Amino acid sequence: MSHVSDLQLQDLPGVEPYMISKLKRAGIQSVTDLAVSTPVELIAGDYADNSPIEADIETVFQLVTKAKKALMDFGVLDKEFCSGEQILEKRSQLVRFTTGSKDLDTLLKGGAESQALTEIIGEFGSGKSQLCHTLCVTANNTNQQRNVGGQKLVGNGNYINIIFIDTENTFRPERVHQIAEARGLDHEEIMKKIFVCRIHNSAQLEAVIKNLGKYIEQYEARLVIIDSIISLHRAEYSGRETLAERQQRLNIMLHKLVRLAEIYNVAVVYTNQVQSQPGVPFGTVDPTRAAGGNIIAHASTYRIFLRKAGRNRIAIMLDSPHHAYGQVKFTIGESGVQDVEVEKVSSSNNESGW
Ligand code: ADP
Ligand code: MG
Repeated sequence: MSHVSDLQLQDLPGVEPYMISKLKRAGIQSVTDLAVSTPVELIAGDYADNSPIEADIETVFQLVTKAKKALMDFGVLDKEFCSGEQILEKRSQLVRFTTGSKDLDTLLKGGAESQALTEIIGEFGSGKSQLCHTLCVTANNTNQQRNVGGQKLVGNGNYINIIFIDTENTFRPERVHQIAEARGLDHEEIMKKIFVCRIHNSAQLEAVIKNLGKYIEQYEARLVIIDSIISLHRAEYSGRETLAERQQRLNIMLHKLVRLAEIYNVAVVYTNQVQSQPGVPFGTVDPTRAAGGNIIAHASTYRIFLRKAGRNRIAIMLDSPHHAYGQVKFTIGESGVQDVEVEKVSSSNNESGW
């Protein structure tokens, strides 16, 4: 057995065939599906025509625990107790995808990291989608990616496959083309390896994330970009009376993303909006007012806040397990996200417009 997807529900110890049928009716096809689910969600059923599991919470809890244990034994999920050495070994498989700006990479210690969730927060026009587009290109230009010892590289050559989940209809292949060309990279190769999933409503987003493990395997993706994680839920669950349900749904999605990043060693990057604050001057948005509240804040491994600063952007590391609080400047130009100095040299005739 070589791949985590080869783990079958029937391989789990002590799980009867009738229970496997129940799980399948509930949309759980694999051990990974089960391991990334929460017992509460399985019992409640979901939107995507999957029936709830008719079983008590204790039974379902044990099923999820068995699935997690199988993935731990397989070596893709951390055991409850690991030695520092084991954790270091797992972290040696980390891949970092450069953002296109050296300064921004420094803030991120190399770029968007696999086995982690990176949240990009910012107001409208702060450059979140530009950063996502740039990553589609620069992720293919990552030295660390090529040098990681023992790391199996997927895709052809040095190009990696990317899943881009677009909830705001802002993905523009033309822009990716432009960024690739400006960086001297093969835009045709890059374009072939971006798998864009256009999402129209929150239920569809939830369904895609529910099946994301399968898509990551199918497309051999190393990087998953979600632009944006919140906008559809925010629009559809706008009333006070639906807030609890919205948070519950976000929680389920983020819980899955955390586990999937770990299981498949993929980098997950998503964008989040900042709630507007009446009376606060433009450009001085309070990052603590990121949409989605604590649910998103707690799930994200790294949280980066983007702010406009004249023609440049400031990125602030809000939250990280091992980065100091810090901030850097970058800018957005023809080649996407780039360092401020580079921008000055390459587009000195473009000083106006800010
Ligand atoms: P959001 O945070 O809302 O997703 P965007 O990432 O869409 O914001 O950023 C939009 C900004 O990016 C524009 O206001 C513009 O300043 C900049 N931008 C977009 N395209 C280009 C380009 N081709 N060259 C330079 N700057 C660009
Ligand atoms: Mg955007």
